[in-house]
Amino acid sequence: MNNLILMLKEVAINIHWSWNKDAVELFNEINPDFWNWSGHNPVKLLNEINQNYLEFIIEKKNLGSRVLSLYAEYKNYLKRDTYFDKKYFKTESPIIAYFSAEYGLTECLKTYSGGLGVLSGDHLKSSSDLGLPLIGIGLAYQYGYFTQVINREGWQTENYELNEFNHLPISLLRDENYIPVKVSVNLPGRTVWLQVWTVKVGRVNLYLMDTFIAENSVDDRRITDILYGGDEEKRMMQEIILGIGGIRLIEKLGLDIKAYHLNEGHSAFLCFERIKNYMKKYNVSYSEAKKKCYNSNIFTTHTPVPAGIDIFTKDLFVKYFKSYAENELGMSVDELFYEGDLNKGDNNNQKFNMAYLAINNSNFINGVSKLHGEVSRKMWELPKSRTQIDHITNGVHTASYVSSYTSNLLRKYFTDNWLYEEDIWKRFPEISDEEIWTLRLLNKFKLVNFCRERIKEKWIFLGADKVKLNEADSILNPETLTIGFARRFATYKRGTLIFRDLDRLKKIVKNTSMPVQFIFSGKAHPKDEGGKNLISEIISYTRDNDLKNKVVFLDNYDINVARHLVEGCDIWLNNPRRPQEASGTSGMKIIANGGLNLSILDGWWDEAYMPENGWKIDSVMDDSVSQEDKDKLEAMSLYDTLEKEIIPLYYLRNSKGVPEEWIKKIKSSVKNLAGFFSTQRMVKDYCDKFYMKVK
Ligand SMILES: *Cc1c(COP(=O)(O)O)cnc(C)c1O
Repeated sequence: MNNLILMLKEVAINIHWSWNKDAVELFNEINPDFWNWSGHNPVKLLNEINQNYLEFIIEKKNLGSRVLSLYAEYKNYLKRDTYFDKKYFKTESPIIAYFSAEYGLTECLKTYSGGLGVLSGDHLKSSSDLGLPLIGIGLAYQYGYFTQVINREGWQTENYELNEFNHLPISLLRDENYIPVKVSVNLPGRTVWLQVWTVKVGRVNLYLMDTFIAENSVDDRRITDILYGGDEEKRMMQEIILGIGGIRLIEKLGLDIKAYHLNEGHSAFLCFERIKNYMKKYNVSYSEAKKKCYNSNIFTTHTPVPAGIDIFTKDLFVKYFKSYAENELGMSVDELFYEGDLNKGDNNNQKFNMAYLAINNSNFINGVSKLHGEVSRKMWELPKSRTQIDHITNGVHTASYVSSYTSNLLRKYFTDNWLYEEDIWKRFPEISDEEIWTLRLLNKFKLVNFCRERIKEKWIFLGADKVKLNEADSILNPETLTIGFARRFATYKRGTLIFRDLDRLKKIVKNTSMPVQFIFSGKAHPKDEGGKNLISEIISYTRDNDLKNKVVFLDNYDINVARHLVEGCDIWLNNPRRPQEASGTSGMKIIANGGLNLSILDGWWDEAYMPENGWKIDSVMDDSVSQEDKDKLEAMSLYDTLEKEIIPLYYLRNSKGVPEEWIKKIKSSVKNLAGFFSTQRMVKDYCDKFYMKVK
């Protein structure tokens, strides 16, 4: 086969391409229709396309030299000197294991549902950029999370699409004899076997386990079919596989892991398995082994409300852990149950709490923003004698969210390697106002086109006629102030707050000299009727004569939709009920693209906000005020800020048609926030404060 094709295939198998704009552009250029058809999956693109045709295209479009430089760049990435090498030491073998129930790396790998997964994915990407000796551990869900389709009635429906692992940038883990690596866990009355997939995330390996193999019964093969799907018992089985199976995989690979990072409580059963191994290896008691393992576990909590935590009934716990407690740990299942029993002594309310298990077994615990750290300290009240809950504020993997226009501008002004340079953000104001304004318009133009295409496709799907389809070209306007709101439709996020005073909103949208438009997107959990109702309400507004084509909803919020939105929106709106948003990360993704934030002072925005960076929505702190009244008052603050500050500023232009004051804000926002609210900073913090402090 042609050498260039082999090089391309080698690049395609490592997710590194997903944060390399040159790679994505090249895949797209090979054949844009095919690239879309593949679901932005280069492995599928390169394997399914006729190989002679591929050779022909590379020649005809003269892509040869670009393939060569892409390949060289990739090889260089894998061997360059890194932060970790310089600060600590060079090592080939991983010493940090990161556990998470979901990973959001790129749109074609549907192993995530939302923020938690995207954060895990960004954690791995930045670990790779910084050269951390880290591995990720998770589950390979056959169907992942659902694809959202809003039906004609405006109601969310869920489709489950198969992850075709054989056509994805993922490969079955095999030993030196080419035999697939397998590990097992014991479930009541049987052994369940797991196969393992490797996802190459730059320099980092992510291992995903699943039960879909011949050794298992037909029922057991389905344990890992759907992320957050099924009942409590299925969740129990998935979490046993993640935690206990994950530790067994590490043993099987013979890795000498020094630090275990539990991203949220789903993987907390790993604490038991580590203790068990330690007891056996050193022939010590449970409590002695626990003390030892405690020092090297790190737990990151993401839930500021008790209702958000993973909880199992006592019966279920006993069913799954009786034999494990008695035979492996030499204790009664009641004693083991205590490890996660938050309501000790209350026999009527015996629940096993996964976060509590993790807290009992981790020396380092952190919330994901400064405010969330405070909230978590109040929520858990640890004994004074132990290390208190700290915080490490979340970030985003900037290179994964910048548009190619943004990336090119950064290259032009600063360096090709802007990703690794933290001080370029401080120098961002050196860029001319005109160029920043052009960047904004280009980013927004791309977003508007994307929305038109998506909505047109949707209308065709619903059987729209020609007249209707022509209307698609008048959806949104790239010159109009564009506000984005996209996130899970959980009630506390108040997806419909902006519609509270419909007349006032209509005035804002319909103002002809200073118009405003809105783009919404987001999924509701399949079992959350409340969330689905919110979506249906928004869909009805998108069909209102005064709002239609100016307020739009994009189906199936995923990494692809998110990336387009954070590239193009002028304003990113976030209005949760304070303090229920632990951090929130989508608002961070818009910063480098020149978008600005308008948000309640919750999560990350509580520590990021300064008047020169963006805008706040006042939240009512008085707990005697009813929720209804809070919503009303906070909605008023939202309208006021839009009408009095944001809209006039955006439309205030100088003689060249450039909104100088607006651009001043963009410059401060990038300068002050882009470096800090990145996983580059976040992963360094985890490394310096936790991973490398493990004794
Ligand atoms: C960033 C992101 C999220 C998380 O956003 P929040 O602000 O935390 O709600 C969720 N889903 C997708 C697809 C994302 O890209």
